[in-house]
Amino acid sequence: MPDLKLTRATSTLSATVLFGASLAAAVPSQAAEVASIGGGVAFSSTQRTPAPRPAIIYDPIPYGAKRKAQMAAYSKRHYGVRSHAFGPPKQVLLHFTVTRNYPSTWRWMAANSASPGNVGTKKEKPGACTHFVIGKNGTIYQLAPLNLMCRHVVGLNHQAVGIEFVEMKSSQNILNRTRQRVAGQNLVRWLQSEYAISKANVIGHAMANSSPYFFDRLGWYNDHADWPTRHVKAFRQGILE
Ligand SMILES: [Zn+2]
Repeated sequence: MPDLKLTRATSTLSATVLFGASLAAAVPSQAAEVASIGGGVAFSSTQRTPAPRPAIIYDPIPYGAKRKAQMAAYSKRHYGVRSHAFGPPKQVLLHFTVTRNYPSTWRWMAANSASPGNVGTKKEKPGACTHFVIGKNGTIYQLAPLNLMCRHVVGLNHQAVGIEFVEMKSSQNILNRTRQRVAGQNLVRWLQSEYAISKANVIGHAMANSSPYFFDRLGWYNDHADWPTRHVKAFRQGILE
């Protein structure tokens, strides 16, 4: 699951901070969570025809005060901003789980087990999570509201919505599994239209280190190989420009 691009990252961080602060100040937390489940606060319009929201099962993992504080501390260490708030996202980041099914994936993300960055780094909390997980049969689950940061990558957790596909070995298998691939493309099109995200900003985990938004203060980088460029290019054939 890094390269420091300070100038650009600094400006995007400021935007994140502003959004997070204004959201927290304007809306009581409960209402904010409910509103964010469905995605969006309309903050930007696109020229495209809006893509419909696919059916999504909301199945949240525990993300209470303790995990929020751990996420905020992680964000301070790695991005320089102490906040667990997330959004609006700039990218969609694709993963696969290396698990056999959805329930085990939910339990892994709910467990909040400390995990490392690249090889040789010390394990840290919070544990991994992604906003969305897509089962092999094409069922889309949402595990965290879109106003909370999830830790699923190095260098982009403050910028990217994470989507995990249940799969053990290769993103090629996801491309071959029509219902799962199409569900993923439907979800990504909706996120693209909600947040004005371009095709080029729908990337795989294996592509994360070269993202223009990539930023990690400690020099951590990604050493995960899920969703290499060639598979992402095939996936992008079913999404918006
Ligand atoms: Zn991954």
